[in-house]
Amino acid sequence: MAWNQVIGQDRIKRMLQRSITGGRTPQSLLLSGESGAGTLALAIAFARVVNCERPIQADDMIDACASCRSCLQAASLQHPNITVVAALPSGTKIETTADLPPAQIEEWKGLMAGAAADPYADFRMPGATLIRIPQIRDLKRSLSLSNSQEGRRVVILHHADEMNQEASNAFLKTLEEPHHNVTLILTTERPERMLPTIVSRCQEVVVPPLDDTEIVAALVAEGRCTADEASLVTPFANGSLSRAREFVGEDVGAEREQAVTLLRLALKGRDFRVELADAVAAAADGRDRQKASLLLSLMAVWLRDARSMAVMGAVAPIANIDQREALERFAAGFGMADFDQALTVIEAASADVKRNVSLASILLTCLLDLRRIFAQARAATGTAS
Ligand SMILES: [Zn+2]
Repeated sequence: MAWNQVIGQDRIKRMLQRSITGGRTPQSLLLSGESGAGTLALAIAFARVVNCERPIQADDMIDACASCRSCLQAASLQHPNITVVAALPSGTKIETTADLPPAQIEEWKGLMAGAAADPYADFRMPGATLIRIPQIRDLKRSLSLSNSQEGRRVVILHHADEMNQEASNAFLKTLEEPHHNVTLILTTERPERMLPTIVSRCQEVVVPPLDDTEIVAALVAEGRCTADEASLVTPFANGSLSRAREFVGEDVGAEREQAVTLLRLALKGRDFRVELADAVAAAADGRDRQKASLLLSLMAVWLRDARSMAVMGAVAPIANIDQREALERFAAGFGMADFDQALTVIEAASADVKRNVSLASILLTCLLDLRRIFAQARAATGTAS
């Protein structure tokens, strides 16, 4: 009853179960992909299963019983064998979770309870950006002590790319030391930001985006909207349940127009700066992080569609089905662009939106980067804008 909290991702669930039943439980796992696609959900389910006292097992399948003492503790993530390490807000005296002021300790507990109940909820302390070295030292210390309870210790380093240099170096040492009965699970949306030596020491599992049908089914099952309403927003969520939830009830059509206008202004000829700055200021007005996240997602969907059109022509499957002509023109002008690089830039901006960074500067930096990337394509094809 642990895996059913994970939407889709059947291949990975099976693979993890086989590793447990086959006696090959990994020492370290790197789950790379969006948390909205289920990285944290998979990590938590794994931790529950390996700690269950009466697991339900058949052939190479294994699941938690949901009723033993261990499962009950794990249900609220208050299990001595399960530790979550994540970025903390900066402060002179804040070094580990134990150093947080009482109000923030409550906030942290709330986050843990929230993730236990819903691993697709946003897991971030307000103002938190980095995992720092005292947290890794603390982890090291706790790993050197023996288990207080039967089962396997599971440490989840959520958004492991948020370790700063010092913390990364210290963590690498921890990773190199042999630990008995311990699994270190790192989740990341940006593996390229991590030390390659950390990545190469972990068993990397790429967690793919969810299918639109899986997201629609989840939104309906959660009672958030009807299947018809879900189908309207899902194509813009890029396989992330968390993002799709944010979009439910939004006027995606109007937001898309704004997103595409921003893109067009950024890719315009010479006199673009004033107009672009005004449009960015308007988009960032109200400091609405959810809206900024939606705009970036819609830009990404637009570029994915344009890439499909550039590669496959008129038969390309696209999300913006009502914008086929506009996309055709876009693909004709920029078909040679490095779309992968452009999408990476947008992903990085989306990750920054969740942190405490000025929205206007995130959007402007992102759009200027896109301008640079697309200018190369324009130079290559000789297209005038
Ligand atoms: Zn159990």
